[in-house]
Amino acid sequence: MSKTTQLIHSIPVDPLTGSISVPIYQTSTFVQDAPGEHKGYDYARSNNPTRAVLENVIAELEHGAAGFAFASGLAAIDAVVKLLQSGDEILAVDDIYGGAFRLFTHVYRKFGITVNYVDTTDASNVTAAITPKTRLVWLETPTNPTLKISDIKAIAQIAHANGSLLCVDNTFASPALQQPIDLGADIVVHSATKYLGGHSDLIAGLVVTATDELGSEIKFIQNASGAILAPHDSWLVIRGIETLHLRVAEHSRNALEVARYLQGHEAVEQVYYPGLAEHHNHDVALRQQGAGGGVVSFVLKSDTAESAKQLVCSTQLFKLAESLGGVKSLVCHPATMTHKSIPAEKRREAGVADSLVRLSVGLEDVADLIADLEQALRKTGQHKYSVQQEAILY
Ligand SMILES: *Cc1c(COP(=O)(O)O)cnc(C)c1O
Repeated sequence: MSKTTQLIHSIPVDPLTGSISVPIYQTSTFVQDAPGEHKGYDYARSNNPTRAVLENVIAELEHGAAGFAFASGLAAIDAVVKLLQSGDEILAVDDIYGGAFRLFTHVYRKFGITVNYVDTTDASNVTAAITPKTRLVWLETPTNPTLKISDIKAIAQIAHANGSLLCVDNTFASPALQQPIDLGADIVVHSATKYLGGHSDLIAGLVVTATDELGSEIKFIQNASGAILAPHDSWLVIRGIETLHLRVAEHSRNALEVARYLQGHEAVEQVYYPGLAEHHNHDVALRQQGAGGGVVSFVLKSDTAESAKQLVCSTQLFKLAESLGGVKSLVCHPATMTHKSIPAEKRREAGVADSLVRLSVGLEDVADLIADLEQALRKTGQHKYSVQQEAILY
């Protein structure tokens, strides 16, 4: 059976009524026959039938043992960090999601958990930086926003040889392209706000564990800390997942065309897209995820925050907003938006240039998207000219 067919039918028909759409159990509690005697559900923080469907579907999609749904991607990441204790170290990809950096640095450091950042695109950097205290290796691949690719299989071997867990934030690739657990990861996290939800209409996070043992630890933390996903939002993610493979295939096709267009543009210095043959780890990307996904980033020749800001304010179809993975195309300027919580020096070190622009390529007709970028880039050229004139005047 094809992946798509399997996916669509992994979402069950309601056994009670035959409802083809998963019912939304909007309830806080469940009536018991006698104390402790119930139908598998007692209190909706611990378990909810709508959320349970989503948790089973994501576990299946990611080829894991157990899945868990949280109120946001960051709540999912937070649950994974709670597996650690004071004195433990995290070894993380340097080009990490800004919110994960903020959580690690400004929340967990004071509890005695330290984080070292390395360029994981070369697995030997992980070997060099891993220590006996490294309890968790943290990867994003592709990364946000410079689309760096790391070799999950190679890094899983290094982590396991050291007795460390490997967690992969699989938000950008989504399980439509990449299953990190098949490559050796112990845990996968998602911001389901992005491709899994797919319609820019909710905030949600997911954790999938490779084993039942890790699953029961996450289950305990999910119930103990309580950052669960609500039933209606669980239902929205389930509905998004129904079209995940179709959407991600089309996002990837559009994004590849946009990346090729930008590569040929005179105002563009560099394009980051794993689907381009010129990408640093294109071969690993092909092996690991097949298609390149829907996010493309690029740096302007005139590398100033001003020129990037002018550009992101000039697009019409690409709406200026944080987030990605929705039907409508989005544009953002990471240095002043998603990555503003990372100190400028650290940000630049990780390759997030001042003029870096990130596109979430949507499902519009790609010719219209390219025309939109063309008119915006032309305007940016004019801006560059006027800035130079000003410099001459003063
Ligand atoms: C958006 C995002 C997150 C955080 O998810 P929220 O749902 O916004 O909390 C984590 N990792 C990556 C890669 C993201 O893009």
